[in-house]
Amino acid sequence: MEGDKELRNRAKATDAGIGAGTIVVLILLLVSLIVLVVALARNPAPAIRIKGQIKGLGAETKVAFEVSDPGHRIRRVDVSVSQEGHSFAVPHEEAQFGEGPRPWWKFWAPRGENSLSVVAMAGRKTLPELHEGRATLVIEATNDSWGRFFRGGRSQVLLDLPVRFTPPRADVLSIHHYINQGGAELVVFRVSPGTIESGVEVGRLTFPSWPVKESTPEIRFALFALPYDSSPAAPIRIVAGDEVGNRTLADFQYRIFPRQFHKDTIQVTDEFMNRVVPPIMSQTPGLEDQGSLVKNFLLVNGHLRAAQAEKLVELSHQTHPQFLWTEPFIELPSKVEAAFADYRTYVYNGQAIDHQTHLGFDLAGFEHMPVRAANDGAVVLADFFGIFGNAVLLDHGCGLQTLYGHLSSIEVKAGESVRRGQEIGKSGQTGLAGGDHLHFTVLLDGIPINPTEWWDPHWIHDRIEAKLAPYK
Ligand SMILES: [Zn+2]
Repeated sequence: MEGDKELRNRAKATDAGIGAGTIVVLILLLVSLIVLVVALARNPAPAIRIKGQIKGLGAETKVAFEVSDPGHRIRRVDVSVSQEGHSFAVPHEEAQFGEGPRPWWKFWAPRGENSLSVVAMAGRKTLPELHEGRATLVIEATNDSWGRFFRGGRSQVLLDLPVRFTPPRADVLSIHHYINQGGAELVVFRVSPGTIESGVEVGRLTFPSWPVKESTPEIRFALFALPYDSSPAAPIRIVAGDEVGNRTLADFQYRIFPRQFHKDTIQVTDEFMNRVVPPIMSQTPGLEDQGSLVKNFLLVNGHLRAAQAEKLVELSHQTHPQFLWTEPFIELPSKVEAAFADYRTYVYNGQAIDHQTHLGFDLAGFEHMPVRAANDGAVVLADFFGIFGNAVLLDHGCGLQTLYGHLSSIEVKAGESVRRGQEIGKSGQTGLAGGDHLHFTVLLDGIPINPTEWWDPHWIHDRIEAKLAPYK
């Protein structure tokens, strides 16, 4: 009996032991399951950041945004517009930027941020079913995490927006528009409310407009140029765009006067190249020795000249939104050695080795003559500047700038204000210069234009002042 009882007790104890272990295991399993469910139910979603403000949908509305995820690959991005129960997918383009995600096998490396830059055109042009009223723009981004029970973490942005297709209006107010090839002209026009950008389109170029005065932002003027190398047949018209992507093209009356430009020959000697090419090469980072003096000269005269033309367009954005000047531009009292848009043939040892167009005036006086600011303005650049040697670039407002090249010394600093006639340096022969002279260029939005118009008080009065006066 005793032995029996003992056996039973032991059995009971063993039973109790198995029971406790099972419970612990079950609890652990349950906890793991809860952790797993919570982990899978989580939504570690990518972040969506819209660039700019989307104020509505129009004919062609640009929707630009970035999607980024610090830990997962972005699996898909969807853009759609829904209106009255219908949903329309919007085609879009994605571009990866940043370091990109870590490959799955490279577990020791940092995870890396996965970022996409996305652009969609969400207007009527891509969605012909869209009609005026209201609509919802839907942006969704999904990653490849195990979140939302293996469907991936997802984020969504919904924007309720007005839909409008009426294009902005642009009514021309000025009359008599005369354009010399290589020169500039001004047009005054009124835009309808909601217009956020307007200007004049000349072929492939667009010249922006500016308010004539701050209190009437809808009355605008645009200075525009017909570049020396543009076809006189290139259409010139006013363009206006509103905040939801509707655009207007408006015609106006104008007359073009085609011009013939001079041709010139420049003899290039070893002595000249030896003097000018090495200093330019050594002061311009990124220019590689081509192995011969002539090849280096051609690199400077061609490649560097073109790169500097682009740089001048970039610098033209550093402009004031008003004219900084009130009087005509001044010309240095000196001899004109070369005029605007002279077509130059470079001859070396009796052979034509290059052709370039000279897009300014060469003014020669005496050695180290004082160089004066052509008008009131602000210094944009005062530094060594490639083929122009030591140069000063002045901003006169509304995209109008003047460049002074080949200086022996510079007497102003970037950011400074200058007065008309103020000495800004001394003439010299730095850069691509055959002798001591001033190279002078007038630029509109970085495009070289003929300076003679700006030196002419009658032209300034008729083409600029008389047109702006009624709206000031
Ligand atoms: Zn020149």
